[in-house]
Amino acid sequence: MSLPIVIIGAGLSGLYASHLLNKAGHDTVLVEARARLGGRVLSHAVGEQGHRLDMGPAWFWPAMNPRMLALIERLGLRHFAQFSEGALVVEGPDGNPQRRPTTWEQAPPSHRIAGGVQQLTEALAAQLEARTHIKLNTTLLGMKLRPHGVELELQDDGGRWQQLARQVILTIPPRLLAQDVPMIPEWPQALMADMKRTSTWMAGQAKFLAAYATPFWREQGLSGTAVSHRGPLSEIHDASDSTGSQAALFGLVGASSDYRRAIGPEELKRQSLAQLTRMFGAAAAHPLWSEVQDWAWEPHTATAADQRPLAYHPSYRRAEVPAPWSSRLWLAGTERSPNFGGYLGGALEAAELAVEGVLISTEGQALETDLTPTMQRDT
Ligand SMILES: Cc1cc2nc3c(=O)[nH]c(=O)nc-3n(C[C@H](O)[C@H](O)[C@H](O)COP(=O)(O)OP(=O)(O)OC[C@H]3O[C@@H](n4cnc5c(N)ncnc54)[C@H](O)[C@@H]3O)c2cc1C
Repeated sequence: MSLPIVIIGAGLSGLYASHLLNKAGHDTVLVEARARLGGRVLSHAVGEQGHRLDMGPAWFWPAMNPRMLALIERLGLRHFAQFSEGALVVEGPDGNPQRRPTTWEQAPPSHRIAGGVQQLTEALAAQLEARTHIKLNTTLLGMKLRPHGVELELQDDGGRWQQLARQVILTIPPRLLAQDVPMIPEWPQALMADMKRTSTWMAGQAKFLAAYATPFWREQGLSGTAVSHRGPLSEIHDASDSTGSQAALFGLVGASSDYRRAIGPEELKRQSLAQLTRMFGAAAAHPLWSEVQDWAWEPHTATAADQRPLAYHPSYRRAEVPAPWSSRLWLAGTERSPNFGGYLGGALEAAELAVEGVLISTEGQALETDLTPTMQRDT
């Protein structure tokens, strides 16, 4: 029996890589440390109608990332423009909110997936079924290069075990890979140092979400978009469904992860609701549901180096593995995308590049996606 192709990490990049390999006729094993699929993609169902709120990524930009748009439409998912009609609220350091007549429109406009971004990872997972063997709660602990493949040291609830793989695609963020996965033979120090320097996009972030019975801010002529120089939320947006019948606001927490850890999630929720009340009025004080998702505390996303907020979007790039590993191992995950690094679209691009490497090395066969030719390569 031939050795399997193993993909490590079942976030968007790993799921898409597995989907592409299945379509090209290859069975795969998809290994995921968490008890769920999706990685940084996480949508939480709220209320009886199950409106799903994005606790991780919420937006994609159709004009900037045709690859995401094409995949979403091919999978039959609905999407809609981020609601931004109405006035912007700006809060100064003194906690005094001011209404600005023009709102803050994103350029190019951002869109959201109806039902949450998790619809995308679930639709991809549904297409994998029999051709992908998914192993949840299974953590990669190390890798050894062997004459016929890569020996993966894995751990699940039953203990440690080894899996020999013909080829491996790693979608783990580079910092986690450098920190958690020793390789034999060792990788050069310069490459390890580069991986440690590569920030995991949004890993140090926390997001606050609050669901309401109605989008009361819209009734006051407010868009739901707000900026605060006091906090704890630095930036707030409307997170309602496409019709506004399932109402919600989300805020990115500007307060540092040290501060968040010191006060704990319940106090952060209390402070966030007090801020929404200052900025949007008394109706904001009584959500149907509210929650904080702190990604900085997630060991399969963030390292100690990710706790400080990033001042700018890093420039990400493709990375080759050391020569002895080169026909056995490919690096994917959004932090390996040359054009859309950090974004959902980058997770797709990096997966395509890695799968193309696997296919060319096995069969000299180029990758065919059913995205249109102009969308296939942006490089
Ligand atoms: C709060 C927040 C907001 C964001 N907003 C946006 C947005 O609006 N638009 C946008 O485009 N992007 C946004 N992003 C970024 C987006 O989430 C990522 O680009 C994308 O989800 C990355 O997918 P990935 O598969 O490359 O990585 P991940 O989703 O991180 O997947 C990696 C997987 O590897 C697993 N793993 C880690 N270590 C191991 C191990 N040792 N063994 C086995 N498995 C392991 C992890 O559990 C995870 O499932 C946001 C991110 C966050 C956190």
